[in-house]
Amino acid sequence: MPALDSILQQKLSLLESKHLRREAKESARTSGNRVMRDGKQLISFSCNDYLGLSHHSDVLASAHQAIDRYGAGAAASRLVTGNLPLYTQLEAALATYKGTGAACVFGSGYLANLGTIPALVGAGDLIIADKLVHACMIDAARLSGATVMRFAHNNMDHCQLLLANNRADYQHCLILTETIFSMDGDRAPIGMLKRLSREHDAWLMVDDAHGTGILKTDPDGIDIFMGTMSKALGAYGGYVCGSQVLVDYIKTAARSLVFSTALPPSVLASSITALNIVQNDYSLGEAALNKAHYFSRLLGLPPAQSTIFPVIVGENERALAISQTLEANGYLVTAIRPPTVPENTARLRFAFNTQHTNPQIEAVVAILKQEGLPCAP
Ligand SMILES: *Cc1c(COP(=O)(O)O)cnc(C)c1O
Repeated sequence: MPALDSILQQKLSLLESKHLRREAKESARTSGNRVMRDGKQLISFSCNDYLGLSHHSDVLASAHQAIDRYGAGAAASRLVTGNLPLYTQLEAALATYKGTGAACVFGSGYLANLGTIPALVGAGDLIIADKLVHACMIDAARLSGATVMRFAHNNMDHCQLLLANNRADYQHCLILTETIFSMDGDRAPIGMLKRLSREHDAWLMVDDAHGTGILKTDPDGIDIFMGTMSKALGAYGGYVCGSQVLVDYIKTAARSLVFSTALPPSVLASSITALNIVQNDYSLGEAALNKAHYFSRLLGLPPAQSTIFPVIVGENERALAISQTLEANGYLVTAIRPPTVPENTARLRFAFNTQHTNPQIEAVVAILKQEGLPCAP
């Protein structure tokens, strides 16, 4: 066996022995929450398509039209010839939706963070991030070359302490958090973070990946407001909203925007239509939230704060086993393991969707209870 393959095979075996190997299973999604896997139709509680917009007929129709008009691919970066009129339309719609001066669309949420953070801070600057921010914010923070410090999840005393003890030693300071935490479903104290960032002359960047289309957050006091079109909007692509100057700057300085091909026309058109649907009907987000509330109530746990609700299991192997039991009963709930979540907090992450029915929610709760979940605190 060639040397590379033999080394990689050892790494795979080690992951396997710790129940940490990951594999992409073939999954045919046929609606907001129906997935065909291994020839079996499953109801999914693992899709982030909270409003079912990935299969909405208007969203599909606009994608078809965009393909017919502009083709399948964009053929170049936005700064060369990829900047379709659909970008202008989508960015205007995003700025209106978020209540900011301007917006910039990136290839994905990951690319938005990866391009924006290093464009704003570097060596000699300080990044202070919540312990649970998404991997792509951490990757971006490392890439920037700034000094990175983490505060305990949502712990404002700790955040304040880091600022008080360190802010003066650095030129610029950027605070990173999320509106809704992707693996925990809880919300950040955005109001307090706005105050801390003002008091300590820091910029506040908030990742709204799971809030977009679901919850409104006051943009005032948020310097960089990013998110994605790949979750509740059912499409693809990331964005950064903020002042016109911020957007003008990142369009020329964010390397993930400058050196990557523009999004396909169909994806831009889908996002425009989905955003329009969300803006005209605020009850959609509410409906998805209500499903999560029903679930947390049936489990006897504190109310869901978002469309995401994790049931913590602990051990990786047990989380995988319960996920398999759910699947055998027709429900798809992926087990989330380290390093996505901290050690010993493997979990079943439930994501709720407007199309889930109460009997489906009751059925998964019954299975969880049979498995002895939720664990006693
Ligand atoms: C999903 C996610 C991203 C990445 O967005 P993509 O568009 O999927 O690349 C960024 N931040 C958070 C918090 C996310 O959950």
